[in-house]
Parts: sequence; structure tokens; C-alpha cells
Amino acid sequence: VSSLAIDNIGLLVTNDPALGEGDLGIMRDVALVLDGERVVSVGASERGATPADERIDAGGRCVIPGFVDSHTHLVFAGDRADEFAARMAGAPYAAGGISATVTATREATTASLRELAASRRAEALRAGITHLEVKSGYALDSAGERRLCELGGELTDDVTFLGAHLVPPEYADRPDDYVALVCGEMLSECAPHARWIDVFCERGAFDAEQSRAVLRAGREAGLGLRVHANQLGLGPGVQLAVEMGAASADHCTYLSAADVAALAGSATVATLLPATDFSTRQPYPDARRLLGAGATVALATNCNPGSSYTTSMSFCIALAVREMGMTAEEALSAATLGGAMALQRSDVGVLTPGSRADLVILAAPSYTHLVYRPGVPLIHTTVLGGRVEWTQPDLK
Ligand SMILES: [Zn+2]
Repeated sequence: VSSLAIDNIGLLVTNDPALGEGDLGIMRDVALVLDGERVVSVGASERGATPADERIDAGGRCVIPGFVDSHTHLVFAGDRADEFAARMAGAPYAAGGISATVTATREATTASLRELAASRRAEALRAGITHLEVKSGYALDSAGERRLCELGGELTDDVTFLGAHLVPPEYADRPDDYVALVCGEMLSECAPHARWIDVFCERGAFDAEQSRAVLRAGREAGLGLRVHANQLGLGPGVQLAVEMGAASADHCTYLSAADVAALAGSATVATLLPATDFSTRQPYPDARRLLGAGATVALATNCNPGSSYTTSMSFCIALAVREMGMTAEEALSAATLGGAMALQRSDVGVLTPGSRADLVILAAPSYTHLVYRPGVPLIHTTVLGGRVEWTQPDLK
């Protein structure tokens, strides 16, 4: 175990209002000292004098907590670029497109799935994502879902069992039998390899009654709850998530006044996935309305091959500010601390003494550049658990 000092930080986002100004807890001209996987101190920059085994000079740049991506589907095979192109040419998005990925994923070897997922994880690190959640959901049979949960577990301790992603073709005329499989044998196979259970509560996927059954079974198996809710239209998903005490209701593109009130009056985080609405030509969720009501908002990539094939949290932040009425501060908070809250973790999404040493040095003097310079790669360096995992080779 060795210590690392990141010195000469021009602007540091701690996400701890007790440490600095505003909700982001901003400090200026400071140094961070990391020891092993943890932050040990945040203090005035000593211009090279901060004691540590190794030292990085941040050159006055902005340092933020690493992005916490609380919603991804990283483990899959196949490519749906043609479906995307058709959609851009006018075809509508429907939940059934998932079955194309299910076919490819079922046919893929474990070695190839592992390699594909690892390369996406590496891509996410280069995009500044230091912690992420990974869902199953592209096998839809017991052994296959277990395989996806196990592969997800090689990337993160926040694995989500999503057997209730879609009714597979072989159960098309008996969906309740599929729900029984998910709640029974499939859950037994997957629960030991997962922390969470999720259900796609949407017209064309699972209705309220089926979704409630899945969540209840997951809770009884000791899993925390998450819900894909209100992506394609108004529906029961958000209020079901709140009623069941889910950690997060994800998408929230279409919300009634009662949905907003339910989220605001609960600990359920509203996780918004604007790259999905971008990629499916849907309206964006009304983040302003949620924040105004007092709901907690997270931003996540929803990285998946059908509706949002991106690992760029910076892109999500830019969309949140440009299209959803969030300030740069709110969007940055939602992509870091908000993601941590959606995963009910206190060790990530903040940079305070004792937190995990997961951070990003931006190639910019402030986080506003994430929005101000859209599409520009501004992730200078990603530090994961106190170790430099990525640094842009041509940036000084
Ligand atoms: Zn999703």
C-alpha cells in the first residue's frame, strides 16, 4: 500500500458541503492525499511539499469524484447499429428489440462475453466512470442469467438480476409462466451472484401485477429493488417502485403529478437516462420538475446495445443541462453523488477523508467545461481505488 498526493488542484468538487462551498463542497487550490484505496486528507496545496510516496501535479485543473453509473447493461453480444439507423430513418423504438440481443448473447461463449464486457468497462474508465452497476437480462433462462450475473460480478459488486427484462419468445403465449420462472428457479440461480433485482415495468414488457411479483420475490431472496419505469409512456412503474421501497426508479421520462409527488416524498431516487431519450428520439424527462418537488435525481448512461450505446457520462451531463433544465452543478452531482445514492452507497460519489479514492482529473479548469465543450474528451486522468487507471497520453 502506497500513498499518492494529487497536488495543485485548482478546483476540487468534494460533494460534501461541510468541506467547501455550495452543495458540491467546492474547494480551491488544494491537495488530496490518497492512501491505498482511500482518501486520507483534503487540504491546502503545499506545492510539492505534501508528503506522499508518489505525486501528481494537477496543474490547476478541476478534480471531481469519479462518475457513478448506476444503470448499465454492459454484458451482451451482438450489434444493433442497423436497428438504430432504421430508427433514425423513422422506425419507432419498441421494447421487443431486446430479443435481438438475447439471441446473440445466448449464442456467445463465456470467454467472448467476458472480453466484450471488459472492453466496455475499460471504455467507461476512460470516460471517467469509476463505479458502475451491471445488469443481466439478455439470456432470459436460468443458467444464462446466472452466467451474466457472474460475469457482471467480475466488474462490480453492484450486480442486478434482470430476468424480468422481456418475456422471451418461447414464453410469448404464457407470460405468467415466465414470471413464475423468474421468481422461482431463475432467482434461486441468480440471487447468490447479485445485490439487486430489477424489472422492466412497461407496456410490452411486464405489467404492474407481474412486476410486483418479481420485486416481492427478489426482496424475499434478500435483494434490493430497482425498476425500469415510465420510459415509453405513463404507467404504474414509478409508483410501484416507491410503494415497494425501491432504491431507484429508472427512466422517468413520462411522469404524472402523482408520480412526481410519490418520488419527492420517498427515498426512491429518480434515475434519468437522457442518452436513451436522445437515441430513441423520445422527449427528455423533466428534471426541473423533479428537483423542484424535492426528489433526488441521478444521471446514468444506461449503456446497452439497443437504446443507448454510450459510456459517456459527460454526454449525459451535457444533455441534462441543455435539454432537461439542470444546472451544471446539479448535473455533476446527479452523475456522482446521485448515482451513489441510487446504489445506496456512501463510499463512492464523494471525495472526503475515508471515502474511496475514485476520482477524475478533468482536462479543464472547471466542471462547467463538461457542458460548455460538448463532445470533447475532457477526462484527463481516472484514478480508481488510489491507482491511476487511465491518463490521456498526449495531454500534458
Ligand atoms: Zn436499462
